[in-house]
Order: sequence, then structure tokens, then C-alpha cells
Amino acid sequence: MKEALSQMLRDRGRSEMPKVLLAAAECAPFSKTGGLADVVGTLPKALAKIGVDARVITPYHRCIKDRYASRVEHLFDFRIMLGWRNAYVGIERLCEDGVTVYLVDNEDYFGDRIYRGGLPEGEQYAFFTRAVLEALPRLDFRPEIIHCNDWHTAMLPMLAHIQYRGRMQDEMKYLLTIHNIAFQGRFGFDFVQDMFGVDPCYYTPEFIELNGCADFLKAGCVFADRINTVSPTYASEIRIPYYAEGLEGILNARHAVLTGIINGIDRDFFNPETDPALPARYTLADRKSGKAVCKHALQEAMGLAQRADVPLFAMVTRMTEQKGFDLVACVLDDMMCREDMQFMLLGNGDERFENFMTAAEKRYPGKLCAYIGYKEELSHLVYAASDFFLMPSRFEPCGLSQMIAMRYGSVPIVRETGGLRDTVIPYNRFTGEGDGFSFANFDAWEMRDAMRLAMACYKDEEIMEGLISRAMQKQFGFELSAEEYARHYLWML
Ligand code: ADP
Repeated sequence: MKEALSQMLRDRGRSEMPKVLLAAAECAPFSKTGGLADVVGTLPKALAKIGVDARVITPYHRCIKDRYASRVEHLFDFRIMLGWRNAYVGIERLCEDGVTVYLVDNEDYFGDRIYRGGLPEGEQYAFFTRAVLEALPRLDFRPEIIHCNDWHTAMLPMLAHIQYRGRMQDEMKYLLTIHNIAFQGRFGFDFVQDMFGVDPCYYTPEFIELNGCADFLKAGCVFADRINTVSPTYASEIRIPYYAEGLEGILNARHAVLTGIINGIDRDFFNPETDPALPARYTLADRKSGKAVCKHALQEAMGLAQRADVPLFAMVTRMTEQKGFDLVACVLDDMMCREDMQFMLLGNGDERFENFMTAAEKRYPGKLCAYIGYKEELSHLVYAASDFFLMPSRFEPCGLSQMIAMRYGSVPIVRETGGLRDTVIPYNRFTGEGDGFSFANFDAWEMRDAMRLAMACYKDEEIMEGLISRAMQKQFGFELSAEEYARHYLWML
């Protein structure tokens, strides 16, 4: 264990690291729709290496039942009241890679999709929240800290403090991690009353009310002992209205306990040295020929002109406003007409952006490829083959793609927001420092200028060498995040 952490333990008169239970709607590799699952799946493993016993509690979703049922062990079951509903709760256990995952079973709530949307989703996770609170005293594990993730589990601290006063649930400490503030779980008071029977005195702006609704994430921000988000810059951005989606008031009021911890990537999974998805593997020291083979393979497979000398820009992304597609749509034609470049997009999402890119592909045959869909294997080839990776996000809590791109030697071009600002050091033409390019404002012409600067640098081998090798050397492992989380847990005790 790191000396600083040992010192913190001694300062608190403890001999052991804290016991933590992570509560989340999804956990990789068992259930996954996005980055939240990766964090919840990877963090306990990294925490175990520094002596923190961190376990996970998550719904027993259909997709987990289908693949893991034979390895799941039934621990116990009981019934809970959810308003007038009397519901079955099964607690199952699954151990993988040394991590214990408790699964909350109920076919009615988790028999199909991970997220049902709207009120049905509210009911799914109201059930999960009550089931977790009632399961805690019965578990074979006594956590000191409950680590909540996003709105689906953000009601835990409030209910623990107002409905379990003096009991073990009330005595535990609660950390709330906000992975994306755009999703808050807003419902009518009658719905929350029906689900949880919360005393009406809490339906006020000091507690759960926001814009006339009950807001689960706000409740978490009010009642959690600490709050963190997934990058230091995003932690400060969500204190201003442009990013905060209405929560700036409570987050400013609680800024003393609000911090940012950057996520990491799985460096074994995303490794150009061993990646089976690549036609040629490469290392930092010997990357030129490997990357050239990858570029050639991608160009061939995607119908791009077979040229080694042209800069290849790439995006691998959900196609939404958050990811800056408005900017791309604004300057794409200008760039494609004037510049000697290629553009590869792998993504799916909003129909209007998909249609725009599909139409653009027809206008620029051999120069632009828009592959609409979600393809894990192809994404690895795109990271390896590209020279530049474009991520002009309107907001970006952390962002994993830019870290993956850097690991594969694709130089990122990002907007200076959230985790993008914290992970990419912009190229400085005077000092030669930097491992990517960036622009400050959400402005298409600023993005175009950054891309033009990248193209100018592409012609200078020495500059590109420096940029690529600094990018590939960046350490984005989960070890650093785990240490930071351990420090946060200790602060709370
Ligand atoms: P977000 O979680 O906001 O979508 P991140 O950058 O944090 O964005 O993570 C996105 C992850 O999903 C990355 O691993 C990226 O490679 C992957 N990804 C996104 N879109 C696609 C796609 N169309 N095909 C394959 N992988 C994708």
C-alpha cells in the first residue's frame, strides 16, 4: 500500500482499510450499457490491490441470468413493501476475479431491460433502493461506506437518514459519484410518495424538490456525506448553470465535499501490443510499421483511398449533441473540400446526425467513411489506424475514448471541457510540449483551426514523433483512481 494511505490509516487510528459496498444499476462484465459499468466493474479490483474490501450490489438483470445463472449462489430472500406493493427480494452472490457481487433478484423488475425508461424505470430503481436498504443488515458483509452511483442509487442516503434513524443504515457513510449530471431521475411527488412514503416536509427546495419535481440526484447531493464526479474539471463545471442542469445551487452549497476523480481505462484490454483485433500489433518503441499496416487495413476495409501520406481523422462515438456533432456538421464540407485529409466515423445515435454523415460519405467517396453502428472490434482498429482522434464534446464528464486513442498512438483533438481538459495537454508550438490539440469554446471554427494546426504538424515528422510518443506514454490505469477513492473513503470515516 502507498505510504500516504498508510499514514492516513495511522492518523485515523485504524489498522485496516475501510469496507465499501458499491451500489449501481450496472456492472461490467455482467451488465453494461456505458462507462458507468466499466467503473463499477474495474474499481473494486483496483481497490483490492490496496487492501480495500469493496463489493458490489447490483440488480440481477436478465442479461446476467442468461449468462451466469449456473455460477450464481442463492444467499437468502425476503419481502419488502414498496408503497402498497409487497415484493420478493432474492439476494444472490457471484464471485469473479476476486470481487464479490451481490445480485438483487426480482423477475418483475429486472426480467427484461436494464433501463425501462420513464416511470417504469423509476419504479425499477425505487425497488432496488429499498431492497438494498433492507438487505444491508442481513448480508454477510458489514460495509462502513455505501458508494452510490448516479440517480438510480442516489436516494439511498436520504432514505437511510430519514427512515432508518439510529439503525445501521443511518450510521453508514455515503459517497455519491455523479457520472453524468444530465440524467437526474425526476418524478412527480405523488410517485415518490407512492414508492417510498417520504414525509411531505421533504418536498421542498432544501431537500428533494427541483423545478416542481422530486429529483433523485438532488436528494443524493443533499444527503450524501461526500460527492464526487469523474474528473476535476467537471467537478468545477457542474457548479455553473451551463453544465449543472439545475443542480448548481446545491453543488455550490456543498462544494467543500465535492471533488473530481478521473477514471482510468483497462490497460490490458486496450493494449496495442497484444490486441487481437489488430492486423499488426505494435509498441511505443516500434510502432511505425504496425500502425501503417493498421491504417492500410482500415482504408481497404472501409473503401478509403489507399494512401499512407494523408492524415486520417477519426471519431468513435455516440452520435449526440453532447459529443459535438453540431460542430462537425458545420465544418465538415468546408474541410473535406479544401483539405487533403481522410475522415473515419464509427458511431450511432441521433438519426439526424446519422443521416448527415451517411449523406456526406456519398459526397466524398474515398475520403470519408461513416460506419453507422456499434462495433467493439472495429473501434480498436480505428484507434490504431488513425492519426488524429476528434472529440469536440459540448460537455464530457470524463471521456474514455480520448484515453484509448492516446494509448493506440492516435493524437487527440478535443474541446477543453471536463475530463478532456484533464487528460489532454495541448500542443505548444513554442515549447514543443503537449500530447494533443485542443480548443476552448464550443465553436465550429475553433475546432476547424485546431484540426488545421494538427494537419500542419502532420507534415513535420519530428513534431508528430513527440506528440505520439508522449500520448502513448500517458498512464491512464485505474490504479491512480483507486488510490484517490481510497483516500476519499478514509476522509469520510
Ligand atoms: P460515453 O460513455 O459518454 O459514450 P466515453 O468516451 O466515456 O463516452 O466512452 C465511450 C466508449 O464506448 C469507448 O470505449 C468507445 O470506444 C466506445 N464506443 C462508443 N461508440 C462506439 C461504437 N459505435 N462502436 C464501438 N465502440 C464505441
